[in-house]
Amino acid sequence: MSNSTNLSHGRHTLAIPGPSVMPERVLQAMHRPAPNIYTGELVDMTYSLIPDLRAVARTNGQVAMYIGNGHAAWEASLANVLSEGDKVLVPGAAQFSLGWAETARKRGLVVEQLDFGRRAPIDPQAVEDALRADADHKIKAVLVVQTDTASSGRSDLPAIRAAMDAAGHPALMMVDSIACLGCDDMQMDAWGIDVMVTGCQKGLMVPPGMCFIFFNDKAQAARQNKERVSGYWDWHPRANPEMYYHMSCGTAPTHHLYGLRVALDMIVHEEGLSNVLSRHETLARAVWAACDAWGEGGSLELNMNDPAARSHAVTSVRIGAPYGTDLRNWLTEQAGVTLGIGLGMATADDPASDGFFRIGHMGHVNTHMLLGTLGSIDAGLKALGIPHGEGALAAAASVCAGQ
Ligand SMILES: *Cc1c(COP(=O)(O)O)cnc(C)c1O
Repeated sequence: MSNSTNLSHGRHTLAIPGPSVMPERVLQAMHRPAPNIYTGELVDMTYSLIPDLRAVARTNGQVAMYIGNGHAAWEASLANVLSEGDKVLVPGAAQFSLGWAETARKRGLVVEQLDFGRRAPIDPQAVEDALRADADHKIKAVLVVQTDTASSGRSDLPAIRAAMDAAGHPALMMVDSIACLGCDDMQMDAWGIDVMVTGCQKGLMVPPGMCFIFFNDKAQAARQNKERVSGYWDWHPRANPEMYYHMSCGTAPTHHLYGLRVALDMIVHEEGLSNVLSRHETLARAVWAACDAWGEGGSLELNMNDPAARSHAVTSVRIGAPYGTDLRNWLTEQAGVTLGIGLGMATADDPASDGFFRIGHMGHVNTHMLLGTLGSIDAGLKALGIPHGEGALAAAASVCAGQ
């Protein structure tokens, strides 16, 4: 009897690295009739989002909003400051660095990629060397992914900025913080970031559908120097609207805006950004503690060895084939938790690709939810007979208890 009892019936948990868990209040705020998009409440409310978005990014720079996902943010950022034939440096070769690089190539940009593998963070010295080698300043921008959601590696952005400064190179520093704004620390102005892109569906806790570009004066000067920017991607009217519809280049994403208003209330005005960041840090450390304990008696290990190079938004785990896929399937079917797949660790036709999973812990996640996910993983390891060390839950609970 007990072997066949299915315990998945209950509220399903999606623990993949985006879309993230959304607060009920965000969903409820979106459940309403369509508002007037010409005057009134929606218009005022939309302008009120700008200071709070800036607060989350820690910038006094400008922000442009778009209807679109993270890929749209990639495209939009490049469209405003780079022209066909320009060269960009992309340090990193995990999945999302490859993705931004590919977007650049398809726009006719020339990409120089630095490959640190799938388990190591960006080496700032290699960035400095590549920029020093570019004596005639062909490289116009350095595209850095802050948290690569595939590796769960987190880039040391101040160190990369320092490397760019040490090389005395004028390239723009452009950062993809799509995975981790509101989870990992971001100090756009203090860290000298010229362009920062993010989406709404991860740390910002809103359904997929909006993205944001933050930019400073140096980036705006690069935008001004371009002969033309396509009307839809142009960030200038979006950030400096003469009419409300300029902000979205057409119909506003009405319901997303209501959801975002509540999400920013919760992050900036209720819990507070520094508490949000430390909650994510503690929950991430709980995940790492559990993984370390499991790894004591089996093949499970964290993809990123150095804790300083690990994101607080997502954790990428190696467990060996076929255990990763088996575990994910068991958790969805038997426990009501869905984990993320491994991304870009092996090609789909390579059996080794069944040896990975990822835990998303971004957004509206607390102790009880995270320990539920970790406890379910522990049950799955046992049910499937996958070798593992004991004590993972106790270790994670101690971290959540502040010990
Ligand atoms: C999710 C993600 C993207 C892509 O976002 P989409 O909404 O899927 O287009 C890009 N970069 C990073 C780091 C991400 O985590």
